[in-house]
Amino acid sequence: MGRKHEPVAEEAPNSPELDSEKKKKKKMKKNKNKDQHQSETSPKRKLDQLDPQNDAESNKKKKKKKHHDSKENAEGTNGASRDETLTDGSVAVTGKNAGDAKYAALKTFADSGLPENVLACCKGFEKPSPIQSRAWPFLLDSRDLIGIAATGSGKTLAFGIPAVMHVLGKRKSKSSKGRNPLCLVLSPTRELAQQISDVMCDAGSTCGVESICLYGGTSKGPQISSLKSGIDIVIGTPGRIQDLIEMGVCCLKEVSFVVLDEADRMLDMGFEQIVRSILGQTCSVRQMVMFSATWPLPVHYLAQEFMDPNPVKVVVGSEDLAANHDVMQIVEVLDDRSRDKRLLSLLGKYHQSQRNRVLVFVLYKNEATRVENMLQGGGWKVVSIHGDKAQHDRTKALSLFKKGSCPLMVATDVAARGLDIPDVEVVINYSFPLTTEDYVHRIGRTGRAGKKGVAHTFFTQQNKGLAGELVNVLREAGQIVPDALLKFGTHVKKKESKLYGAHFKEIPVDAPKSQKKTFADSDDED
Ligand code: AMP
Repeated sequence: MGRKHEPVAEEAPNSPELDSEKKKKKKMKKNKNKDQHQSETSPKRKLDQLDPQNDAESNKKKKKKKHHDSKENAEGTNGASRDETLTDGSVAVTGKNAGDAKYAALKTFADSGLPENVLACCKGFEKPSPIQSRAWPFLLDSRDLIGIAATGSGKTLAFGIPAVMHVLGKRKSKSSKGRNPLCLVLSPTRELAQQISDVMCDAGSTCGVESICLYGGTSKGPQISSLKSGIDIVIGTPGRIQDLIEMGVCCLKEVSFVVLDEADRMLDMGFEQIVRSILGQTCSVRQMVMFSATWPLPVHYLAQEFMDPNPVKVVVGSEDLAANHDVMQIVEVLDDRSRDKRLLSLLGKYHQSQRNRVLVFVLYKNEATRVENMLQGGGWKVVSIHGDKAQHDRTKALSLFKKGSCPLMVATDVAARGLDIPDVEVVINYSFPLTTEDYVHRIGRTGRAGKKGVAHTFFTQQNKGLAGELVNVLREAGQIVPDALLKFGTHVKKKESKLYGAHFKEIPVDAPKSQKKTFADSDDED
């Protein structure tokens, strides 16, 4: 179980909780020191941290090492509190007693032993996805869990089904009238919150578990009424949830199951303080689940502060920055001013039928409006989604795009993460994003569910600082690296996120905290 970060002075002396808290803290300190020692002295870690190469060869070597580590861990400990790493195809699981039979991967839905009315939402699926198969046994056993998995891996139900079970377990003994929520899911964007909420409402509909979605840009009235009439699961964006807490209408004191989805993106968007404050409102004994596509230092801090000192970590695919190999990546180095003309000609190529879905990414809100107008002027039927639009218009645009009534959409990075949009054939990056991680997420909107996709990216002189990282991503996926891109150099700035695995490495108090990226007019969310 996770713990709440509270000043010790506020706790009652001699309380059993305090004693167990003390023991936990002692144990945590011991673990931290152990991990610090390991991470500072292990030649493997040092090598990984210094190695900017992210090509197929180095990935293979890392995989081999992981397998070796897993054997070492399993054989070298006494079995009482083993910290094990098990690699199983594309999934790696690390954590205390991870090898116990009760945590074995689920091969079928029936293996989970979950009631039929809870599994009803999975009826259309053949078997649990890898993240579900590995995460459910731990989550149903109340373990804290870190999931490194991209959207598209089935991660919503990976935490959604255990959340529903958590509610059912807690509600047994309580009346359901005027109930406060028991589970909270925080999401970085409104659209992702809405998507999670749709899945949770569907999952809860067959077993009487009610969810509500709280996000900004829409009227608070209906959200307040739902909260007042009683709700089981709250899903939402940090800004609106904080507003409703401050208004005294959203009470999280009984929340004992918390999910931070796309945690890295949430912190990137400057939500760290609000997230901390919201977590501080939840029950002191709670189960924490964090999903993140990457594992940068600020997310690491948050996990260290709010999670059990020994969470389970389930990694689906590679922890290194890697693009979906089903996407053909074309990178074109060109002059800033020639992008409009080139975009129009590319649409002639990729969107001739005007029936296939094409997503054009830009960086800035005003850029989205300008490009949308430019395309409309060129005769294209197009919608757009960005932070300056009213929520109603955002929802409408996304729905038109999803349904296919308007299969051409211009979007800022509010649509880069998490959205499960069916059959996007082509992604065009009109502007390169601020980070290579965002590039990987953007192009991941295509090539989903086993289909192939195309990502066509404009790269300009202004983006040259990211050339080295992009070259590595292209190489890792076996894509063509244009000479014009190589001319910008292949230097890669060392990244904190390469410290994966050193979750509980001692971090000095004066270490820099995460900062909000301030880029004039880049797109943020509330
Ligand atoms: P998510 O990662 O939660 O955004 O899920 C992406 C897609 O995977 C959604 O369209 C889900 O309906 C689908 N999905 C979830 N679980 C499974 C499963 N076990 N097998 C196949 N598809 C699934």
